[in-house]
Amino acid sequence: MTSSHKCETPNCNKPATLQCPTCIKIGIQGSFFCSQECFKSAWKQHKLLHALAKGETGTESANSGYNPWPYYTFTGKLRPWKQTPIRTVPKIDTITRPDYADHPAGKPLSEESFRGNTTIKVLNDEEIEAMRVSCKLGREVLDEAAKTVGVGVTTDEIDRVVHEACIERECYPSPLNYYKFPASCCTSVNEVICHGIPDTRPLEDGDLCNVDVTVYHRGFHGDLNETFFVGNVSDKHKNLVKVTYEALSKAIDIVKPGERYREIGNVIQKHVQAHGYSVVKSYCGHGIHRLFHTAPNVPHYAKNNAVGVMKAGNVFTIEPMISEGTWRDAQWPDDWTAVTQDGLWSAQFEQTLLVTDTGCEILTRRRTNNGQPWFMDNF
Ligand SMILES: [Zn+2]
Ligand SMILES: [Zn+2]
Repeated sequence: MTSSHKCETPNCNKPATLQCPTCIKIGIQGSFFCSQECFKSAWKQHKLLHALAKGETGTESANSGYNPWPYYTFTGKLRPWKQTPIRTVPKIDTITRPDYADHPAGKPLSEESFRGNTTIKVLNDEEIEAMRVSCKLGREVLDEAAKTVGVGVTTDEIDRVVHEACIERECYPSPLNYYKFPASCCTSVNEVICHGIPDTRPLEDGDLCNVDVTVYHRGFHGDLNETFFVGNVSDKHKNLVKVTYEALSKAIDIVKPGERYREIGNVIQKHVQAHGYSVVKSYCGHGIHRLFHTAPNVPHYAKNNAVGVMKAGNVFTIEPMISEGTWRDAQWPDDWTAVTQDGLWSAQFEQTLLVTDTGCEILTRRRTNNGQPWFMDNF
């Protein structure tokens, strides 16, 4: 086979048939190399072309060489990108602020005063109504985030949308300044299990992106998350997301007065293990109302020792994090981002639930498309 192309490497000039896959994807003409060796040696210069072509000289090239932790060994392919300045919530009396919002170390002192207490609050009618409102608003904010997700969109842009959607609804975005968390939601991409910090990395075709939203409205938190598809996702990653969603649904199905909190993990692990996946152990569901995280603690893995029996009026989250490979997690040096130890991908779904006399009410349920998660709209 002959080729009219010449290798792009300076001073090479050999006939070339290998084309840069990234160039093909983004439609750059030319870009032929004679060998992998030449391609590799030219890479540092060549990749600048991609940034130029995508008009991302302000983002991609801005991040090239950015590595805040040169001594850290990453478990997977994802890297941190630069973050934008911390957003603020206007101090107006229509937006109630949680205690940690203005604490210098972001400490939720009210929450800490209950640490170690396993008593599960039974909410009265007024408190339940307040939870219905904050959870519905949280759902609206997550739906706004869902509409924003797409190829080339940065997680920082998703955070901006979440932040503004909260303020429009007279909500404080609960994650902001919680133990100094620097953003208004968590965005967890690919091997990130949870607590990813939004940054200037543009989402790529095939990524999974979880957005976790919690809002604080008139003294009550509402918490939910979904994993979204970015562009064309591989069948294996679609399956991971589907099985994770099913696991949450099956767990919700057993919620009713008299059920033990520890049963939830048995249901979830049974389902995901049958599909060859694993359950992350380090992060659990939690009670939620006037406090962001409180009793009960709700593990998602089997044979756990969770304390407590469900009673009508309890409110808590179930939020299984399911991994393709190992259940073990590691943490980036930002002290937030939880990743899988093997760099394989992880997915998550979360709802806030109210135990009722007969079962449960999904306070953060989606109100459109039959309540199905967003990924199913174009599965
Ligand atoms: Zn959440
Ligand atoms: Zn939660």
